[in-house]
Amino acid sequence: MENWIKNSDGRWVWNSGSSALFQSEMSEISSAMGREAVTVSSYSGANQFLASKVNILYLRAQRKRITTFVAIHRRNIPINSQVCRLCNERDETTTHLFIGCRLSYFIWQRTGHWCEVPPFLAFSIDDLLSMHKDKNVDNKNEILQGIILTSFRCIWKKRNAVVFHGAQPSVN
Ligand SMILES: [Zn+2]
Repeated sequence: MENWIKNSDGRWVWNSGSSALFQSEMSEISSAMGREAVTVSSYSGANQFLASKVNILYLRAQRKRITTFVAIHRRNIPINSQVCRLCNERDETTTHLFIGCRLSYFIWQRTGHWCEVPPFLAFSIDDLLSMHKDKNVDNKNEILQGIILTSFRCIWKKRNAVVFHGAQPSVN
């Protein structure tokens, strides 16, 4: 993790070599949030009230801008390993992290069971983020979408807890 440093208020931030890239990306996302606000609003209805971090992660996923280890490596930023820290079995691509990883698979199974809908079965991030449209849940698509996005965010938070804070890669 030599590319991450703790700043004065204890938050982990990118080291200098990549800060420009990070700021550029955040600027682009902020711009996109403004530009796509109508899209998100019309697409997700009540889900515009979801926490902004969920929406930002959703937009980053749509734009294939999730900073997985594989994505970081592709930007020529040196890292020790590209392996997913949740399973230590495969490289951490966005598709693996949110769909293929056994921990994520377990979360989607539990989420589907909890929502009393047929099991979630996705082959891509686009599948996952549009899955609420395929379920026959009687005008509760927006609620289901909110649950999917929240689970999506939870996977990302768990991944970051494991990577940056040494948390155990288990579902709690
Ligand atoms: Zn994994």
